[in-house]
Amino acid sequence: MTTETTTTDLTTVKGLMAAIEAPEGQGVEMMDPATGKLVGRAPQRAEADLDEAVATAREAQRSWAARSHAERSELLNRAADAVEDSAEGLAAVLSREQGKPLNGPNARFEVGACAGWLRANAAFEIEPEVLVDDESGKAVLEYVPVGVVGAIGPWNWPMMISIWQVAPSLRMGNTVVLKPSEYTPLSVLALGAVLNQVLPEGVLQVLAGPGELGAALTAHPGVDKLMFTGSTKTGQAIMRSAADTLKRLTLELGGNDAGIVLPDADPEAIAEDLFWGAFINTGQTCAALKRLYVHESQYEAMCQALVKVAQRMPMGVGLEEENVLGPLQNRQQYDIVAGLVEDARNGGARILMGGDPVQDQPGYFYPTTLVADIDNDNRLVSQEQFGPVLPIVRYTDLEQAIAWANGLDVGLGSSVWGTDLEAARAVAARLQAGTTWINKHGAVDPRVPFGGVKKSGYGLEFGVEGLKSVALPKVTSW
Ligand code: NAD
Repeated sequence: MTTETTTTDLTTVKGLMAAIEAPEGQGVEMMDPATGKLVGRAPQRAEADLDEAVATAREAQRSWAARSHAERSELLNRAADAVEDSAEGLAAVLSREQGKPLNGPNARFEVGACAGWLRANAAFEIEPEVLVDDESGKAVLEYVPVGVVGAIGPWNWPMMISIWQVAPSLRMGNTVVLKPSEYTPLSVLALGAVLNQVLPEGVLQVLAGPGELGAALTAHPGVDKLMFTGSTKTGQAIMRSAADTLKRLTLELGGNDAGIVLPDADPEAIAEDLFWGAFINTGQTCAALKRLYVHESQYEAMCQALVKVAQRMPMGVGLEEENVLGPLQNRQQYDIVAGLVEDARNGGARILMGGDPVQDQPGYFYPTTLVADIDNDNRLVSQEQFGPVLPIVRYTDLEQAIAWANGLDVGLGSSVWGTDLEAARAVAARLQAGTTWINKHGAVDPRVPFGGVKKSGYGLEFGVEGLKSVALPKVTSW
């Protein structure tokens, strides 16, 4: 049931694929979203496999939990070494299957983040907390393993988000059964194979399959906690289903992050950071900037500065080293993005650049698109477009911009851009989001807790708070 093959050289694409691919004629064919060419065949697991995996995970969890934090941290560090040894192979598999370029904040960056998050989770201190220690007695709070963690992930950052779920879970003495997105199973199977060169048998199992397999994992009585990253709609289905087993949940769901550019901002100086805040991973990022509010005094200058930056960012096939933007990962996402831009155009918005996909080319390439003079209630603004598009909305009154930023039912990230830091912080305090960045957007850090409010989910990942969320609080009092 485990996905590892220790005899194969897992530093190359060939070795990785040999370790994970389904036999000829079996599995599901995964196509490169940039070229339409075959990447490989992903094995498909059924519910019976899931039962076996959960039983294996439960068995393995006893001895895994019996190890000390120091021992588990040592193995996480060795797992990070293994990821680094296989970094180029992993990045190439990821680039071909997900579509993201090797360079820019994309495939190599994602693999590097996997090693970084493993090391950070190995390093955190989590000590028993003495709550009471006086003449009345003593009370101590500790964090003990939950048991078996089910992890379900999306297709946009398949490796990195898997590590966000796996690393803290393992550190805290849990074992993990991981179901990757049906759009990017090979990337996560490859990562799992690399990690399993180091991890004990049964501690991490990757099972590829459709959404139904995720639903079965959610409902499984042998799974104690579920970590889910994906859409709000699936998060809601998971929450309903988890009620039956009263499963603990961490839900990292969709967002539609707002950014507010204050009147004292310098458009030329912030344009490149704003661009990457919006277009990281070709816009397919949960906490990417998806709607930008700019004061009228800066509006044209900001639009032009963004166009200038966007024009020098090449988009193309991921394995070609010069590219920093890639295709949409799948047809469905391409159609969503194209439809929303069409709506904006029909609503009278001004397309500053992009907006006209090249027909008759292979791959789901949608051009980098900047949209100005758009109403706040246009669908391109109010819905999560999840693609290489940024609507730029003009405001005259800051109160109006704050109301617009807070006006949706999601709240993952947000940002404020300006020169006067105190003024920016005062605006940041009023934005409804799990994280508000100042003069940057989407910059996650393994030491800093991350999570959403409203329909962007609940529960925290990263940092010591993230470790606590994959553990059970246990009080001893005497
Ligand atoms: P999705 O919800 O369609 O799928 C996510 C995963 O859920 C897949 O593995 C899928 O197979 C599985 N699934 C589908 N139906 C299920 C069910 N009934 N029960 C259990 N699992 C089921 O999401 P997606 O399209 O892959 O990802 C994009 C979305 O994820 C966007 O909305 C994005 O904002 C969000 N996202 C959020 C974060 C975050 O940290 N908050 C990070 C990345 C992506």
